[in-house]
Amino acid sequence: MQPTLKSKLPNVGTTIFTVMSQLAHEHGAINLSQGFPSFSPPAELTDMIGHYLKHGNNQYAPMPGVLTLREAIAEKTRRFQGRTVNAETEITVCSGATEALFSTIQAVVRRGDEVIVFDPAYDLYEPAIQLAGGICRHVPLGLAAGSLDFIPDWQQLEESISNKTRLIVCNFPHNPTGAILDSTDLDRLASLVRDTGILLLADEVYEHIVFDENTHTSLLSHEELWPRTFIVSSFGKTLHATGWKIGYCIAPAALSAELRRVHQFTVFAVNTPIQNALAEYLGSDPGFIDSLASFYQQKRDLFCRLFQGSRFKLQPARSTFFQLVDYADISAEGDVDIARRWTREIGVASIPLSVFCATPTARRLLRFCFAKDDATLTDAVERLRALS
Ligand code: PMP
Ligand code: GLN
Repeated sequence: MQPTLKSKLPNVGTTIFTVMSQLAHEHGAINLSQGFPSFSPPAELTDMIGHYLKHGNNQYAPMPGVLTLREAIAEKTRRFQGRTVNAETEITVCSGATEALFSTIQAVVRRGDEVIVFDPAYDLYEPAIQLAGGICRHVPLGLAAGSLDFIPDWQQLEESISNKTRLIVCNFPHNPTGAILDSTDLDRLASLVRDTGILLLADEVYEHIVFDENTHTSLLSHEELWPRTFIVSSFGKTLHATGWKIGYCIAPAALSAELRRVHQFTVFAVNTPIQNALAEYLGSDPGFIDSLASFYQQKRDLFCRLFQGSRFKLQPARSTFFQLVDYADISAEGDVDIARRWTREIGVASIPLSVFCATPTARRLLRFCFAKDDATLTDAVERLRALS
């Protein structure tokens, strides 16, 4: 008898990032779709990795991560967020933010639990919630009429909380809109969860890429939120190394212990030589992280300037290496179709915003990754401007 496999995720196709990158590749298009930098990680760091590959320990790392790396993460957390966390019990090194998010959701969500995400929502949350047997509730970020400034709608969040709510996923700095939170937002969030058992999952992978006068206000820095929060970050974004797949989760000891129960059977441990090199590199205090925001701000400014005087509309992103661009004055075509067509016809690939939203949107928005060299960005925008 031929076994039949009933899908556990029947509504999930291949992730849009793979789809668009593949299409860009097939058509030789400039790939501003999937978010990855075209820059190299710091040379000192890659030299250190080479050293540890040749002379270091190439066997299993400790399950929660190499201790010296966890200590370096604790120091970074103290310096940037002002909180002292325990490297032994409160930090877990994971295989990218992806595994940290996935393992956390599996550790926390039970059958029938509700999990709230803000739309547009990064595409891994809902499938991970479904695999855990949970139900994903979508709360759209607010968008004032005529504006492209996305902001959390706390009123709607309040209305979406029920006695089944187990977890709220807070991805700020937000992919793809660049929305960020301030301390007033965190106070509001605290007031909404105060008398509940709701846990929080803060996906803060863009913590070091925040622009202008804005600052990143981590859930970790909030006295009332910290005891119920898993904070996830990724060295992929911070060190131009998305291919290394190393991230981490910081959470109070009792929460970290539950995450580790899953992490140990998902990947067990993350590769040893890169962990050793990261520990040494972060410990040497290279200043790379401090200059990351201004580096990307120049990219953002260039990318936005290149559109000036065109019929594309945009509001400079407050954070991340993504810029939303409104093409409503150029075409009425849906974003999924136009993203594909422009990849094929003008050779510029982007990500349609609607794939991150549960409810169809009438907005005509595409997400472009500006983590590219200036010539690539200039070429891409020239091609787009030729349309208008
Ligand atoms: N969360 C968000 C919001 C992201 O944009 C990404 C990837 N770019 C991830 C998680 C996954 O990070 P990683 O590549 O470290 O797994
Ligand atoms: N996070 C990246 C983005 O938003 C892509 C990650 C991936 O391809 N899985 O584009």
